Amino acid sequence: MFAQVSTVIVKVTHRCNLDCLYCYENITKQGEDMQLATFRQLASQVLQASQKHDITFLFHGGEPLLLPNAWYEEAIQTAQDLAYQYKKRVHFTMQSNLLGLTEAKINLLQTYKIALGVSFDGVMEDTMRGGEAKVLANFLRVRQAHISAGILTTINAQNYQHFDKICHFLHKDVGLRTFKANVVTPVGAGLAMEALDASQTFEAQHAILEYMIATEGKALIETNLMREIKRYFATEEERLREPQTLCHEKRCGAGSTVVGITPQGDITPCGRFAWNEEAYFIGKLGEDSPTDYSAKLHKFHALVPQNWYDCDTCSAKRICGFGCQAFIVRSRSKANVDCLPTKMRYAYYEANAERLKNLLRRA
Ligand code: SF4
Ligand code: SF4
Repeated sequence: MFAQVSTVIVKVTHRCNLDCLYCYENITKQGEDMQLATFRQLASQVLQASQKHDITFLFHGGEPLLLPNAWYEEAIQTAQDLAYQYKKRVHFTMQSNLLGLTEAKINLLQTYKIALGVSFDGVMEDTMRGGEAKVLANFLRVRQAHISAGILTTINAQNYQHFDKICHFLHKDVGLRTFKANVVTPVGAGLAMEALDASQTFEAQHAILEYMIATEGKALIETNLMREIKRYFATEEERLREPQTLCHEKRCGAGSTVVGITPQGDITPCGRFAWNEEAYFIGKLGEDSPTDYSAKLHKFHALVPQNWYDCDTCSAKRICGFGCQAFIVRSRSKANVDCLPTKMRYAYYEANAERLKNLLRRA
């Protein structure tokens, strides 16, 4: 069942030292973290079964820095030994809020070359996360220590009107060249929230695009939008040559190229599920039942097909990422909330093609 897997999202804990209003996990302050034996079994099954040469383990949570260094040292050594045995290469990344950063953790990240994705929503007084000043200070510390680290921002109800300022800040004050801005979907802790409407999402993305154009691609690039712009301008030949992406296909890589693992060893289609959302478990480590796995996975991808009723005749399909199936099935609306903003971005690309071409040349 792991034959095509190249990315494993390892939920090492469901504990967190923050309590973000939109968190898609079911966070607890206490609880059992992943046992090393569970990680060992995971690494062993994946490295033995996957036909891919390069496998990335993404340490996720909860907040992964809450686990002690000794856990990572042993887990990484185990994965490296297994990779050697199966003639594969392993890579390690971590999605963190960096609040628990210490000098010892910096050493750990350096020693094992763990690349970081850092969650940070900007510098407004009122964000939906908390701890921004400390997160930012720690982000600058890891960059000073030459650890590969990028910023993952969300577009949410509190910040969608401020992306011109956020872009300026990330570029001028933080010195970033690229960042990612994912749209929040109300699931998990945020299930009761209203989703941003299409014009609010587009307002944020429009501000980012205008910032990228105004700075001629020499300042800050938002990587989701840049990939989309490249898709927009690609010739048919170039499109055919494009490697398949994890998320931006009509049937995404959930459960095939990527899997998520809960601290208890349950397998989910990807990392965007809560550790205790049993309805979406597609297997359990150590239980070898590929038929059951395939059937459950097929059912997951086939849920709510009404979201794609007019894709074939839609001109925006040229750039479309088709939404996130995990967020669609977990949301109250069961809607692909990215559909309308995608159509709005496509209309924007059509109207601004000349300005965007300049950006493409520089980026
Ligand atoms: S924008 Fe909407 S209708 Fe068009 S291809 Fe994407 S999901 Fe389908
Ligand atoms: S479920 Fe969402 S995050 Fe997971 S692979 Fe699919 S599109 Fe990507």
